[in-house]
Amino acid sequence: MPINPILEVKNLAVSFGGGAWPAVRGLDLDLAQGEVVGLVGESGSGKSITAYSLMGLLPYGARQDAGSILFMGQDLAQLEPKERRKLCGARMGLIFQEPLTALNPVYSIGEQVAEIFRIRAHKSRAVAKALAIELLGQVGLPNPAAAYASFPHRFSGGMRQRVVIAMALALGPELIIADEPTTALDPTIAAQIIRLIKNLASARGSAVLFITHNLRLLIGLATRILVMYHGLVVEELTDFTDLRHPYSQGLWRALPPEPGARQDRHLIPIPGQAPALAEKIPGCAFAPRCAEAQDICLTVSPSLKTLAPNRRVRCHLAC
Ligand code: SF4
Repeated sequence: MPINPILEVKNLAVSFGGGAWPAVRGLDLDLAQGEVVGLVGESGSGKSITAYSLMGLLPYGARQDAGSILFMGQDLAQLEPKERRKLCGARMGLIFQEPLTALNPVYSIGEQVAEIFRIRAHKSRAVAKALAIELLGQVGLPNPAAAYASFPHRFSGGMRQRVVIAMALALGPELIIADEPTTALDPTIAAQIIRLIKNLASARGSAVLFITHNLRLLIGLATRILVMYHGLVVEELTDFTDLRHPYSQGLWRALPPEPGARQDRHLIPIPGQAPALAEKIPGCAFAPRCAEAQDICLTVSPSLKTLAPNRRVRCHLAC
């Protein structure tokens, strides 16, 4: 149990097709106040579906099959849909992957931010506008008063992402979920956005769940990382230099060199493809792609072994 827990997720299971395609399989996840936790994996590993289930925003065809989600000690399943919607957005903020689709093209940036203060915090128009301009300044938009009147199509991807961050942080949420917020951005802007999320979250004491496919982005940002594969957590770690699961090691080797570093290092992609959700694999789900697979890996599914506090690995070879 973390100190001052913001989020406690136990045995979360989510599937599509009425249980036919499991997307998240028995996830345990805790976040404490002020903590930044990274959730890493390839597309289809279950990380984004985890985020949407926490927010109560599962897409059509998906359902939560099992598990509990406690936010500040409150079981979200016990809330009426209206209450849950109120809580998500005010006390849990989601930063979307693609800022252009997260913003309404027919309303100005400022109107979209001010609306949150008017509708959710019941502020007057004048106060909502003043708060929106202040917030646009805090997320680093130059000339926030002019930005207030601009429309999304006039902004670059990085500027739009700053607006989306402003909207997620507007009501001072205790938990921020950032779902691949830098995917559409170049590395320099991505680094600025990550710094911004880190600084704003730390200034407000918010916990952050940062979802990404890029392990390197989490260096200096996350204090703890969960690596997901085929809907399962396969590794939990706090030290980047001690990756023990062959999948985590493969993700690291497959990263391109850092900007500015020597570019002559060969990338080593993980062979093969991640299995489809519906695929039933008798042993370790990573075995068909794992260079270290043993006979036992093909028949027995490894359990998630706890090696130390915040140190878990799901591999027969882990010790
Ligand atoms: Fe590889 Fe076996 Fe470990 Fe799975 S359990 S990651 S197949 S060594």
